[in-house]
Amino acid sequence: MSNLEQTLSIIKPDAVERDLQDKIKEEFTKNGFNIFKEKKIHITKTEAEEFYKVHQTKIFYNNLCEYLSSGPIIVMILEKVEAVAENRKLMGATDPKKAEEGTLRKKYGLSIDKNSVHGSDSQENAKKEILFFFKD
Ligand code: UDP
Ligand code: MG
Repeated sequence: MSNLEQTLSIIKPDAVERDLQDKIKEEFTKNGFNIFKEKKIHITKTEAEEFYKVHQTKIFYNNLCEYLSSGPIIVMILEKVEAVAENRKLMGATDPKKAEEGTLRKKYGLSIDKNSVHGSDSQENAKKEILFFFKD
């Protein structure tokens, strides 16, 4: 009956660079997420452009793609009941300065661009993003 969902999470380069991946993964498991799959990768700028295609008209698009391809990232499939919304809640607002107390971006984010984590924003996008990184 319960609607177990999957969502895509990324620990972004700024967090991997500061060696925060274990702390962040612990936050997910502590909050009831199962890390179903994970891998550490370093994507190209072209791959980042494809991943963030929805933002291609935004002024921050180029910086964003440079940034996501600037160093290793951890991509994960997270599972939980209502995983998409639950992960968005745990991450907090895009801008760490506006993120609620206790959220990942509040705790670890450096700035609106270096905000430590990505999470899918809908079930439809979660499916697409999971396929993008985990094709098998
Ligand atoms: N971003 C940025 N400048 C902005 C807005 C967003 O650099 O003014 C970056 C930021 O890293 C964000 C990503 O672009 O996480 C995607 O933006 P979105 O609006 O989808 O935010 P999110 O869904 O990650 O909260
Ligand atoms: Mg988004």
